Amino acid sequence: MNAQEHPLGISFEFFPPNTAAGRDKLVTVRDALANRQPRFFSVTYGAGGSTQQRTLSTVRAVRESGINTAPHLSCIGSERGMLRDVLAQFREDGIDSLVALRGDLPSGMGGIGELRYANELVEFIRNETGDHFEIAVAAYPESHPQAENFERDVQHFVRKMNAGANLAITQYFFNADSYFHFVERVRALGVEAPIVPGIMPITNYSKLARFSDSCGAEIPRWIRKQLESYGDDSESISAFGEEVISSLCQRLLDGGAPGLHFYTLNQAGPVLKVIDNITG
Ligand code: FAD
Repeated sequence: MNAQEHPLGISFEFFPPNTAAGRDKLVTVRDALANRQPRFFSVTYGAGGSTQQRTLSTVRAVRESGINTAPHLSCIGSERGMLRDVLAQFREDGIDSLVALRGDLPSGMGGIGELRYANELVEFIRNETGDHFEIAVAAYPESHPQAENFERDVQHFVRKMNAGANLAITQYFFNADSYFHFVERVRALGVEAPIVPGIMPITNYSKLARFSDSCGAEIPRWIRKQLESYGDDSESISAFGEEVISSLCQRLLDGGAPGLHFYTLNQAGPVLKVIDNITG
């Protein structure tokens, strides 16, 4: 964590750009967001190690800002030996925190690999590297899309935390009660670690609807209807999105959320507006 930290305990997630223009833009975005003293930045990782080198080079570029930067690491489609090499490379680079995930295998891309679930990855990292890494994992207040049911999903989550995770970051959601309900349930099962809400800014309705369907995040009907009514009026979508997400964040913080993790999609503007609204 960084010495001077924003009082709200914010963090920002990036994906590794695959063009020179994307990399240049990310430097500007990184600097605009570093200004708000986040706890950390994180950089996503493609299934089966498909972005391994790009994730690492993006982590290197992002942390030039002086902000601690955590790579994500997913285990699906990977062998233990490969994961061991990645962890060694992270350590060599001075990385001491990461986000451990199962990941999703794109169709047609090899077998599932040696570790089937994220709890096995957390256990593997602890066995291989002891307490070197601070480990964050994913949480699903509205249930993971493949979960048999809410309770089974919660049990798997608790097992993942007990394998040695230090904190959890949630999938995004638009209903604050789902977060509070999830936190209450896992606290009752003995999980004490921080569970930080993941926040997705609303800037593009069709992309958001597509992505929400695949990751199981529910867009409440009143939000869906309002966004639909704007058609391709992107200014109105962004203005309404800013209002909805700012009040969601405020409600989460008022209800005791230990911080906010923003899915930036490599853009600073929408996230900064929300932070300014809630900081007053
Ligand atoms: P798990 O915790 O393994 O859970 C997956 C499913 O299996 C759930 O339905 C769960 O109930 C079930 N399950 C879990 N453990 C067991 C068990 N032991 N036995 C039986 N069933 C079990 N994806 C990427 O590819 N790259 C990224 O960088 C990335 N970053 C993310 C960051 C965050 C904060 C979040 C919330 C998600 C991210 N994802 C990323 C997406 C994530 O990889 C997918 O949601 C994936 O489908 C599940 O990953 P997980 O780590 O939550 O899996």
